[in-house]
Amino acid sequence: MKKTVKISPLFFVLILLIIPTSLFTVLELSSMNDQEELIEGIYNNQLEAVLFSTNQFADDNVNAWINDLEKMTWSDENTSSNIDLYLQKNPQCQNLLLLSYTNDQFNYNDLLLEDQNLRKEIVDSLVSETANLKRQFTYFSEGYRKLSAIDLDVQHYSLITFVTKLNQELKLGIFVIDARKFISDVLSPRMQRIAGDNFILTVKQNSSEQFIFSTLLNTTPASVTDEISIWLLPDYSIGIQPKGITISDVARKRAYNNILYLALIDVLLIIGAWFFYRNIRREIKLAKIKSDFVSNVSHEIRTPLALISMYAETLHLNRVNDETKRSKYYSIIHKETQRLSSIVNNILNFSRIEDGKRQFTFSLVDINDLISDVMKNYAYRMESKGFEAQVKLNDDIPLIDGDAEAITEAITNLLDNAIKYSKEIKQIELTTSLQDEFVIVTVSDFGIGIPAKEQKHIFDKFYRVTKGALAHHAKGSGLGLSIVMHIMQAHKGSVSVISEEHKGSTFTLKFPVSKNI
Ligand code: ADP
Repeated sequence: MKKTVKISPLFFVLILLIIPTSLFTVLELSSMNDQEELIEGIYNNQLEAVLFSTNQFADDNVNAWINDLEKMTWSDENTSSNIDLYLQKNPQCQNLLLLSYTNDQFNYNDLLLEDQNLRKEIVDSLVSETANLKRQFTYFSEGYRKLSAIDLDVQHYSLITFVTKLNQELKLGIFVIDARKFISDVLSPRMQRIAGDNFILTVKQNSSEQFIFSTLLNTTPASVTDEISIWLLPDYSIGIQPKGITISDVARKRAYNNILYLALIDVLLIIGAWFFYRNIRREIKLAKIKSDFVSNVSHEIRTPLALISMYAETLHLNRVNDETKRSKYYSIIHKETQRLSSIVNNILNFSRIEDGKRQFTFSLVDINDLISDVMKNYAYRMESKGFEAQVKLNDDIPLIDGDAEAITEAITNLLDNAIKYSKEIKQIELTTSLQDEFVIVTVSDFGIGIPAKEQKHIFDKFYRVTKGALAHHAKGSGLGLSIVMHIMQAHKGSVSVISEEHKGSTFTLKFPVSKNI
């Protein structure tokens, strides 16, 4: 036997809607992080560029000092006076030392300084940097002047060394500068200009971890976003901190907003998917109900048709000589024809209701009379099936506005069901009464009853309870109660059920009393 694999509609909803949208969300989120990182990267590069340009400015400034120096005319005789003159012109420079370099040796005797401690410190530092200093000469011979910086332990002094050609002789030039003075006189005006309203620039001494300058008057930020050492002042570094809302803040905020919108869209999609799923499920259920209906109705029609055909044929062949038997057969044919027409009527009425074409003709109706008529027509059917009917009519009930034919149809449907769904106890009770402004009709049986969870569905079109042997075998289209419900709505009344499994059911029709009496 071929096995059919049932795929739940939920599976399709998941595959078609939820999985793609969740994947999209995840992709978006990850690309959002990338974008945020990219923006942050660009922004950080910008911060670095600001720091770089500050450093470059310090370099340019010192190169300008060297140019000034080289513009002067130097000779052995005027060296000392030239230096004095030079230092007067460039007060940011504490001292200028010129060291001759011959035969791969620095001539430290050239270093004339009154402060012997400072001199010793400078000589020691230079000696320890000999390799570096020599490399400066190699660079110079290759046409490139490199500046080097040496931090001194004395005060805040720093040495900036360079190679220069004065009076045709290569010399190691040494600017002795007071780092703090250089920062405040040379760098700070420049930093103030660069910082503008966008950034805070700071200078920190690395050895003491102390901020010694900030472009924000007297205040230093708690932390800086980026930091770089000052090339010419190795013990100092410049830091940068964006002011107010930063690009990365904006990027983050944008990312958060996007995540929020995405989440919202996802929620909407999931709600949409849920409705979609519900509709598919309902459609599938409806398709099944319809196919059940077709098979149920065919089944219900087949039995009376078979009986009619059998008895008609027997009669037609003149095989029955006994008059009573013949009359019995005629009556069976008549009864089954009635049954058939009631089935077809039910279906036609239902289809008219569905099309909104069912018309009701209202007049004053005495429910008691109507029930008596129905019971007269039903007497034979009930008796032949062994049913006993107890009819308790309240004579004091008023008239109602109703369509007698439709009410008959409703009560007949309830009686049909009471017969169909009864087992051993074949008893049916019919009552009428008055309750407030309503005429009440009840039809009770002591049959199989209706499970509590099914009770709210039995008035739905095509709905049938198929649990239990009898319910399963009883024939029906599942339309009866939905027609009753429709008829009651047209009468501005209602239909309800009280039922217990294996005990029986009571259906109650509630009609408003006529206002025309
Ligand atoms: P059907 O043609 O199946 O009788 P109805 O709309 O008249 O359709 O009833 C719907 C379902 O309600 C039935 O299939 C049956 O399971 C249940 N039902 C209706 N009346 C009774 C009753 N008196 N006792 C038990 N079950 C009932």
